[in-house]
Amino acid sequence: MKKSEILTCFQCGTCTGSCPSGRYTSLNVRRIIKDSIQKDISDELELWMCTTCYNCQERCPRGIKITDEILKLRSIAVKKGKVLPAHRAVCRYLIETGHAIPIDEMHISIREQIGLAEPETVHKYKKALNDVKTLLKSTGFDELIKE
Ligand code: SF4
Ligand code: SF4
Repeated sequence: MKKSEILTCFQCGTCTGSCPSGRYTSLNVRRIIKDSIQKDISDELELWMCTTCYNCQERCPRGIKITDEILKLRSIAVKKGKVLPAHRAVCRYLIETGHAIPIDEMHISIREQIGLAEPETVHKYKKALNDVKTLLKSTGFDELIKE
């Protein structure tokens, strides 16, 4: 999205009024859009409170691609090394196991007890895990999430 399109925001608040996350967190998407025009907001915790439900984007009377903009702002934050500890942990799981949330010993054991085979994922196909690692390395993802 061009900066000029964001500049058409007239602060009507439809985005904030449509935001389910904003009802339970300090996320104020109207303010995020306003501040992103004026300054670097890559430090803002609220950037990560968006669930990317796209309600705001669908309803903005100016057609501003709000959710896409939030995703871009997150990418900028990550490139600056601003990754929340919980997100960094999930990224590490992805690199190490091929899953953002890998199956744990307890659930492997429960699956065995009820006669379920290993899931048809990288848990079962170790070669695929090597492929995942190669892909993540080739994109620089591993470097991106280093402390
Ligand atoms: S709904 Fe659109 S125009 Fe209204 S405040 Fe949000 S971004 Fe601005
Ligand atoms: S996409 Fe994010 S900011 Fe927009 S309404 Fe959903 S949770 Fe709120």
